[in-house]
Amino acid sequence: MPSLWRAQTEPPKFPRLGNDASCDLVVVGAGIAGLSSAYEAARCGARVIVIDRGDIAGGMTARTTAHLASELDDFYFELSRAMGEDRARLYHESQVAAINRVEAICADENIAADFARVPGYLVAAEPAHQAELVQEYDVCRRIGVEVEWSDTAPVPLPHGTRALRFARQARFHPLKYCAGLVEAIRNRGGQFYGQTAYVAHDQDGSGVTIQTESGPRIRAAAALFATNSPVNDRVAIHTKQVPMRTYAMAGRSPPEASRMRSSGIRSKLIIMSGCSRRATARTG
Ligand SMILES: Cc1cc2nc3c(=O)[nH]c(=O)nc-3n(C[C@H](O)[C@H](O)[C@H](O)COP(=O)(O)OP(=O)(O)OC[C@H]3O[C@@H](n4cnc5c(N)ncnc54)[C@H](O)[C@@H]3O)c2cc1C
Repeated sequence: MPSLWRAQTEPPKFPRLGNDASCDLVVVGAGIAGLSSAYEAARCGARVIVIDRGDIAGGMTARTTAHLASELDDFYFELSRAMGEDRARLYHESQVAAINRVEAICADENIAADFARVPGYLVAAEPAHQAELVQEYDVCRRIGVEVEWSDTAPVPLPHGTRALRFARQARFHPLKYCAGLVEAIRNRGGQFYGQTAYVAHDQDGSGVTIQTESGPRIRAAAALFATNSPVNDRVAIHTKQVPMRTYAMAGRSPPEASRMRSSGIRSKLIIMSGCSRRATARTG
């Protein structure tokens, strides 16, 4: 079944790489990470080639719930505990900068990607979990996150709880955005090849050679791997990863569902937000 985004927008398709090629930067993987990187390089004048083993923007980017959130799924109080408040603050600033960058690129490149600023809510799935929100609020205030308490949220709150409301989050249409990036990169001379899988590379003092599955090679001054799960290093990251697939589904619920409490609430929030961890769920 195509995702909601894919059913509405088909990103442009590109042929397989047929001959050897050369460029300044080769980007392996054409999801939002690869396309954003390719865009920044092309904007700085680099000759860019982007390859993907499937379609352009056909990976996880086509399946996201598309919240552009500076709020953190894993909680700032936990990041702060593990890495210290200065690093948690830096992380938050990077998320704010990333959302601002998407907004600026939409404006600069005239990309109609339905970008809109919206508030984001973190709600307790059940009253016992409110304490985590209190911890989160305290750390967020200390590191400069724009957050406030709210007695309402887009979903009914469990009795006796309040939500955290994060200002200036955003949402967009990921595939309209990616299609806009593709056009902006092509306008700067960038090239795209679909159905072109990376299988190996050789690196030397003057650059890198990418070997593609069907034969042709790409010689470049630098290569950037944006394959979501790394394909160029099978040990360092993979030994720290857990295979996992998440899904987001949406549907109308009957009025009586709004009276759900406890574990029922949690299920409902997972459906609505697509992203729920432990006690709390994110909506917005
Ligand atoms: C249900 C769901 C909800 C989500 N909700 C959110 C959200 O609300 N907000 C948020 O910020 N994030 C969310 N995410 C996560 C977000 O979608 C991803 O982090 C993001 O899309 C990853 O982008 P990417 O470019 O790194 O990877 P991808 O989009 O997966 O792109 C990687 C590309 O690399 C290609 N590739 C892989 N191997 C090779 C190879 N050997 N050769 C060539 N190409 C290769 C793939 O074909 C793919 O196109 C969600 C994810 C899911 C599944």
